[in-house]
Amino acid sequence: MVKSGFVRFVFMVFVLGTLAAQDQQGAEKSHPVVLKYLGTAGWEITDGTTSILIDPYLSRINGPAPPGGGSGHSLAGDTRRVYGWGDVASPDVAAIDSHIQRADCILVTHTHYDHILDVPHIALKTGAIVIGTESTENVMRAYGVPEGRLITVRGGEDYEFGSFSLKVIPSIHSPLDHKHYFSSAIAPAGMKAPLTLEQIHPEGGTLAYLIRFHGHQILAFGGMNYIEREIVGLEPDVALIGAGASRKEIYDYSGRLMRDLRYPALVLPTHWDNFLAPYGASQQPALDALQSFLQEIAAASPKTKVIVPKYFEAIPLETPAK
Ligand SMILES: [Zn+2]
Ligand SMILES: [Zn+2]
Repeated sequence: MVKSGFVRFVFMVFVLGTLAAQDQQGAEKSHPVVLKYLGTAGWEITDGTTSILIDPYLSRINGPAPPGGGSGHSLAGDTRRVYGWGDVASPDVAAIDSHIQRADCILVTHTHYDHILDVPHIALKTGAIVIGTESTENVMRAYGVPEGRLITVRGGEDYEFGSFSLKVIPSIHSPLDHKHYFSSAIAPAGMKAPLTLEQIHPEGGTLAYLIRFHGHQILAFGGMNYIEREIVGLEPDVALIGAGASRKEIYDYSGRLMRDLRYPALVLPTHWDNFLAPYGASQQPALDALQSFLQEIAAASPKTKVIVPKYFEAIPLETPAK
């Protein structure tokens, strides 16, 4: 009696264990995580149910160049309207609506127009929550994004959202203009839309995000810098790494990143394209410049796969081994 009870117990543990394992495999298979590059520092990460956007910027206006060139310069012969700092920040609603149908959560790394210009429209249209600095949230407030959908962070938070969790990583801005870029400005509270480009461009501090989603850990940077002590010990399998030219101002940028992150399986370069050029324009000069980044990663982490993303092309992640 005791023996058969024990056998039955072992059998049940075995069956339940097998079922749980199959369930988990089934769950992973039915929810492959897919990334899409939106250009600039913009990404969509989705499992088909939950959609997370990072710095979604689809307007790609012919706007002011960042200090020292950054990763944007106007194309010769561009006949589109030229925007100055004093012009009203007008998103290209048609471009946004043709590519973004839904979003549950929008992560913003910092309040510069190539990261935030489209966020109010996307937030209002989709009902997504917007996670970002006080500066970012003040811009959202100016456009009437409801307070209940704003989650203000400063870096250090680690939040559970049910289908994913999110660690907010304190970070720093790209060292534009040969390290002379510096801004402690934040977009103030109390502004009312419409805002000018200048009003949506005070950096407000910079963040990075670690997204845990279906067994993946996806680390997303919005530019070409990091605080080393804040990333040591993270072990993302996917890293979206700023690959614009200003990274060359930083000591051993790719080497330290790869070692600190324990050699991620997949690296996706971000913020490497010329965001002042429309989607249809050639990015060949930016692609040529990107080659040195690919070499840096290959040298620092030979086993890491690097995919140079094409706009809006689905990048499905493999099921995590762990
Ligand atoms: Zn910036
Ligand atoms: Zn930027």
